[in-house]
Amino acid sequence: MGRTMSDFPQIQLLAPKRGMPPKHFADLSKDERIDALKELGLPKFRADQIARHYYGKFEADPLTMTDLPEAQRQTVKDALFPTLLTPVRTVETDEGDTTKTLWRLHDGTLLESVLMRYPGRATLCISSQAGCGMACPFCATGQGGLDRNLSVAEIVDQVRAAAAMMAAEGSRLSNIVFMGMGEPLANYKRVVNAVRQITQPSPDGFGISQRNVTVSTVGLAPQIRMLADEGLSCTLAVSLHTPDDELRDELVPVNNRFEVSEVLDAARYYADQTGRRVSIEYALIRDMNDHDWRADLLGKKLHSALGSRVHVNVIPLNPTPGSKWDASPKARQDEFVRRVAAQGVPCTVRDTKGQEIAAACGQLAADEDAS
Ligand code: SF4
Repeated sequence: MGRTMSDFPQIQLLAPKRGMPPKHFADLSKDERIDALKELGLPKFRADQIARHYYGKFEADPLTMTDLPEAQRQTVKDALFPTLLTPVRTVETDEGDTTKTLWRLHDGTLLESVLMRYPGRATLCISSQAGCGMACPFCATGQGGLDRNLSVAEIVDQVRAAAAMMAAEGSRLSNIVFMGMGEPLANYKRVVNAVRQITQPSPDGFGISQRNVTVSTVGLAPQIRMLADEGLSCTLAVSLHTPDDELRDELVPVNNRFEVSEVLDAARYYADQTGRRVSIEYALIRDMNDHDWRADLLGKKLHSALGSRVHVNVIPLNPTPGSKWDASPKARQDEFVRRVAAQGVPCTVRDTKGQEIAAACGQLAADEDAS
């Protein structure tokens, strides 16, 4: 038998500790931008002009926006473009295909985003919160608790920075996954606002296809239902990690509030409303959640809740410094996948790109001292 529940520390959901950044252009609605510029003595059409720079050319510094009156560039910068993200360190791996950037926010909070280049696409993994309050005991981010929610502009500017990096390489950013630090649906309104800015065409957004945006969650059932009703068609990824409540209460503490059946009902509602297939994320942990019976139960529950509108991503657990949990052996992993698939549920093992630089799922701990 594997480890028992008593192996898990009792971790409380933690409250936010820090303050939000100053207002940025990307925090404002169209009308608010026009009002803000009016206060600076600038006419309405400047709002669109600045938006074209920001969303179309990925420029965040009004001093470079040469079609703005020179005398007002600094005023616009001071009022609407505070520096939100300052790069602290950039690490590359996978022969330069993966770039992890550590950012410092205005209040000293650290966060990370990871850019992964694949043939024909480039995916950015972004953070929605600094730290995370969900306290999953196997996750590096969860160990530090929640610092605070990110503002809309702090989320959006991670995308702008990566889009600028890809443009400089003569390529483009095509996919966004909200799988960095934080529980996106715990910062619901800002994440939905950011998704709209990511997906609307320029000058209202970066024009990335909604279908190429994935919002992940540990299973905040009411927010999954709200997201289903937003009229968006992004992919929903639910980090399930086990099909039974007994273990999930420990692995994903929020399960004590929203149990597996409630989460899967909400996922079905999402699939019904959006017509999108739901992704189920399953970090496979040796002797913990990798048993044959769990694979069978997972396949059965998913098939009955979602039919063919589901796909399971098995993620070999990534080594976290100091963690006692380990990935399942390859043969166990293969058998797990086979058993889930045997229930009629598509199931594959996720590419763990970025693992060498501790950038894969559950590894974004934003440690400035790490190499
Ligand atoms: S696994 Fe996700 S939800 Fe859980 S603590 Fe880590 S970042 Fe938060």
